[in-house]
Amino acid sequence: MTRAVKCGPLVIGGGAKISVQSMTNTDTRDCEATGAQIARLFESGCDLVRVSVFDEKCVPHLRKYQEDAPGPLSADIHFDARLAVAAVENGFAALRINPGNIGSESEVERVVDCCKAHGTPIRIGVNSGSLEKDILNAHGGVTAEGMVESALRHVRILEKRGFEDIVISLKSTDLRTTVDAYRRMAKMCGYPLHVGMTEAGLPGEGSIRSAIGIGALLLDGIGDTIRVSLTGDPALEAPLGISILKALGLRGGFRLIACPTCGRTRLDTAAIAARVEEAFRDEKRDITVAVMGCVVNGPGEARGADVALCGGVDCGALYIGGEYREKLTGDVAEKFIARVRRVLDERDR
Ligand code: SF4
Repeated sequence: MTRAVKCGPLVIGGGAKISVQSMTNTDTRDCEATGAQIARLFESGCDLVRVSVFDEKCVPHLRKYQEDAPGPLSADIHFDARLAVAAVENGFAALRINPGNIGSESEVERVVDCCKAHGTPIRIGVNSGSLEKDILNAHGGVTAEGMVESALRHVRILEKRGFEDIVISLKSTDLRTTVDAYRRMAKMCGYPLHVGMTEAGLPGEGSIRSAIGIGALLLDGIGDTIRVSLTGDPALEAPLGISILKALGLRGGFRLIACPTCGRTRLDTAAIAARVEEAFRDEKRDITVAVMGCVVNGPGEARGADVALCGGVDCGALYIGGEYREKLTGDVAEKFIARVRRVLDERDR
């Protein structure tokens, strides 16, 4: 098990629930836009939100960002120890820096002392695009070994100063290299790992790449916190991250099973499934619901569902806990949604 690291109220690693992150893409110097986007990202399901802090003009807003945010914020900083110290002193719950390029020895010392005093963890984020020249030369380009070597170099800088509240990420534009790097790192140290595919692309392709990469690692038991990185609206990222976790049984809530439909289909499965999903999108209680097109294979294929609807001629057959209950006619989707709600409410009593 990885080491537990605290980011404000959020625990990363140590067997804690796998958290989901995203990052703002507004100009951090624009207080109104960034504050609004931070709120929106937490609403979209984030457990932690990262914010770039890239110049002095960002600093006056940092305290307000963290005070107004419903969860922990992490400051993403490159090459400037003063900004890192400012973020911690203004209450940010975490830093994402690479200690090897944050400044001189004394500046690293200052950042580490400040993090120790405030109990603020540091994520070391190695990215294939910014690997050190000597590592690139030694490995003949970007390799998983080189990325791990780079991360460990940064880790040692912190460990030398007695600092161990560390999270590590190793992101490459190549999916296989990224997965390989995380697998190697997981064998070499016990620090929690922030898993994600960088520059995954636009939502369509990017979701697939992220699901494959993050999913492969999570199936190996690797990953304590995840980020799906997409080009575009960051509010799309957390829902996808949560879907990946749900698909692997690593997060509860509402889960929809729907058959692919075929010649036997007797219900507008796609339309009903869409209405059911819309109705329970934000449901936090655990429930698996199935919408199946026919009563021939539907009941068997939906056996694992708590509540299932299987299409008959002008009707839907309702199953609860695998048992047939009743025939739904008229607005089948609406009646089915009402039955699912009833099952959830009865459980709560
Ligand atoms: Fe076809 Fe029925 Fe299977 Fe749906 S559940 S794919 S309608 S056989």
